[in-house]
Amino acid sequence: MADPLDKTELAYDVSDEYRPEPAPIPEPPAWQDGSFRIGIHTSIAGDIAGALDIASKLGANALQIFSASPRMWPRGGTRIADADAARFRERRSELGLGPLVIHDNYLINLASPDRVMRARSIQAFHDELVRAVSLGADFLVAHPGCCMGSETSQAISEIAQGMRQAARGIKLGDLRILIENTSGMGSAVGARFEEIKAILDETRDLPMGVCLDTAHMFEAGYEITSEKGLDWTLELVERTVGLDRVYVLHVNDSKTPLGSRVDRHEHIGRGKIGLQAFGRILNHPRLGPGLQGLAGRAFILETPIDLPGDDRRNVRALWELVGVDPKQAPKAVDGFSMVRGKKKKISTQRARRKKVGGKKRPGGKK
Ligand SMILES: [Zn+2]
Ligand SMILES: [Zn+2]
Repeated sequence: MADPLDKTELAYDVSDEYRPEPAPIPEPPAWQDGSFRIGIHTSIAGDIAGALDIASKLGANALQIFSASPRMWPRGGTRIADADAARFRERRSELGLGPLVIHDNYLINLASPDRVMRARSIQAFHDELVRAVSLGADFLVAHPGCCMGSETSQAISEIAQGMRQAARGIKLGDLRILIENTSGMGSAVGARFEEIKAILDETRDLPMGVCLDTAHMFEAGYEITSEKGLDWTLELVERTVGLDRVYVLHVNDSKTPLGSRVDRHEHIGRGKIGLQAFGRILNHPRLGPGLQGLAGRAFILETPIDLPGDDRRNVRALWELVGVDPKQAPKAVDGFSMVRGKKKKISTQRARRKKVGGKKRPGGKK
């Protein structure tokens, strides 16, 4: 038997009720479609938009760049002309590359106890943010900094405060700042996940995240080469910064052994981490783009280019490791490399070491 109350309810016409139009849910960018995003750090020499074509020709579908010279304090204007930025964005969408990651200048040290150096660093980081926004970058990867004698806890507060100051007055939009873990060379902060967490805790008002570099983890003493070691390390990441805040992985093999605290990148599979370990890392259910992972998480190479073609080969190695059918993976241009000629060995790290007289320089690595 029908309940008479039902009738009363039926008489109520829901369309009479005022309902504001729901705000349209913004479409997630195409690179967050759950596919593997594999990229490489590409050169902006000559033309910044050229970096996009390089990444594409190397068979990558994501990329990392510097937005200005990484080892010089900028002289004069540091902004990117509107027309150049517009051309860059347009070319990027034509090529379907994403995410776009920008790596900050190596000289920036927000933890510096030297006041002039710190002020300069804050200004330079501010400029990094402005350029990243104008290029439509998704992530700005930043090295935490070096404490150079001051207490780590003090350095962490300085870094957080410096970042907040640098971001003041900028509409960051979808840009996220990612703190990169370090190998712990010299007095570099951020070799331990707990230190990165402490920075995140003090920058809650900013859109923050983490970039994990495999070589740096290994060099800092995290044993990611065995299945057990990787699980243990990821559990520690989860308990500190949280895996869902790791938006980018720098995928580099290491020339130096576990816990060396000396940062030297090596080709995938040719260093102390090894191919098998990289297979486990890239395909780990919590790291990949699948359900337990994070859609759009990017794996970016910062491997050396000792010979022309090393860049293309390292990109291909990653696609092979994730088991993407070569027909489905983005197609590289045969024989293409961002380095031409066979005379000179190209390694950013080697060049820098020469410049500082072979001495280890803290925090000077990407
Ligand atoms: Zn490095
Ligand atoms: Zn890195």
